[in-house]
Amino acid sequence: MAERPAIVWFRNDLRTEDNPALHAARETGAPVIPIYILDKDIAHFPGAASLWWLHHSLSSLAGDLKNAGAKLIYRSGKSADVLKSLVKETNAEHVFWNRRYYAKHVEIDKDLKSDLKAGGVAVETFNGTLLREPWEVETASGGPYRVYTPFWKALKQLGPARAHMRPNLRKIVGPANPPKSEKLASWNLLPVNPDWATEIAETWSPGEQGARDRLNHFLNDNINDYADGRDRPDKDFTSRLSPHLSFGEIGPLQIWSAVHDKMADGKVSDKAAMKFLSEVAWRDFSYNLLFYNDDLPDKPLRENFANYPWRDDRDGLKAWRKGETGYPIVDAGMRQLWRTGWMHNRVRMIVASFLIKDLLIPWQKGEAWFWDTLVDADLANNSASWQWVAGCGADASPYFRIFNPVSQGEKFDPEGQYVREFVPELKNLPAKYIHAPWKAPESVLEEADIVLGKSYPNPIIDHAKARERALEGYKEIKSA
Ligand code: FAD
Repeated sequence: MAERPAIVWFRNDLRTEDNPALHAARETGAPVIPIYILDKDIAHFPGAASLWWLHHSLSSLAGDLKNAGAKLIYRSGKSADVLKSLVKETNAEHVFWNRRYYAKHVEIDKDLKSDLKAGGVAVETFNGTLLREPWEVETASGGPYRVYTPFWKALKQLGPARAHMRPNLRKIVGPANPPKSEKLASWNLLPVNPDWATEIAETWSPGEQGARDRLNHFLNDNINDYADGRDRPDKDFTSRLSPHLSFGEIGPLQIWSAVHDKMADGKVSDKAAMKFLSEVAWRDFSYNLLFYNDDLPDKPLRENFANYPWRDDRDGLKAWRKGETGYPIVDAGMRQLWRTGWMHNRVRMIVASFLIKDLLIPWQKGEAWFWDTLVDADLANNSASWQWVAGCGADASPYFRIFNPVSQGEKFDPEGQYVREFVPELKNLPAKYIHAPWKAPESVLEEADIVLGKSYPNPIIDHAKARERALEGYKEIKSA
């Protein structure tokens, strides 16, 4: 190869637009080699639903890169070894990537960077994932925020790290003879026998174009309902950008600037825009927590929670996973997750509270199930949110705030449309009883063709008693 190439290592930044690492590689003027490495040994390897998404996202990225002029190389193995050998094989002069924030991933990146630099390779890394780097948003006395509201205030004041990079239409010139690549299909990321992803495939369009379409749809049709309607699972008022953000098919800076453009045009109210951006900023906050707390995915931030009297309730866990708890809003959420790979935020809070506080099952079990089944599974958001619901995280919901699955259902799914969609065996039940079918008179159940305990389960636990039990457990760790 005459001119020494520049390698771009793609990770959770599967996009061509507003991608600082790709941009820097292109700016060198050298031939660009984009690579994705499947590293099965990495800590927190993606779950099954994420692998489904990854397959399609990579295929879409490869198409976009090909159109722009470069071939995406697929290789598998220990990421640092694979990258070092690619550098050697191609005599690359530069390596670029966008940063990661989980200690075990940061360690790989740091070691690799110093090894490559020692070998004379120029390595540059960027922020392609967050509005601001964790170390850029610090309290007045230095150090990270542990409470969200002042964090958001500080972030808003600082604004995003840089302007959104406008689409670069210049060709990305790849080498005349690209390095060898494995075949994406040979990675077997898609489920077979059974293929459980049919409805997931009907629901989502992974890839950068899918992300753009999703954002445009949200900004044109839904954002003005967001502030008041975002808690309603029966409505389509949230952006559903989460899987696209998790895989970096779109970055928060692009979202930030698109929302500001709409505001400037007078198409979006300040209230709606700021509410939405403040939720996008929760994602930055979760990444801060992950960056500063190595054990966030595994251990409670409030250490006394490690001694909570959890129960080993396998039947309860199974019923929860399958959406057969007898509480319709919980079951609808768990079935939405299984069928579509996603769950509405309000319902995520309800089902998480039910697992942790009604069933007394450790939050890590719920976190693991979400990790495997969510298409938007994100290490920072998932761990921070589970710790938040459990009451053991930073700025967590107080432990004694225990969601009542019946009143939550009545408040946020008042007509029961969400339950009807995902728990079809209850679809004929009048709204009055849909969140508590056991309260319905026999005649109403009969009319709706429901036999409790047969066509739909009785509640697996009495919520009022479970609540008392959970509070007792909390007293124990508080006094210990
Ligand atoms: P919108 O309301 O449209 O928000 C836009 C974006 O802001 C989201 O895509 C997301 O990136 C970010 N965001 C919104 N709410 C939050 C929040 N509370 N915390 C952090 N970021 C937020 N989100 C994930 O992306 N991945 C996860 O693995 C994940 N696990 C969760 C587990 C539990 C127990 C709970 C309670 C929440 C979890 N969330 C997770 C946060 C939130 O539920 C989702 O981000 C949101 O439902 C995605 O839908 P949306 O894109 O329509 O959100």
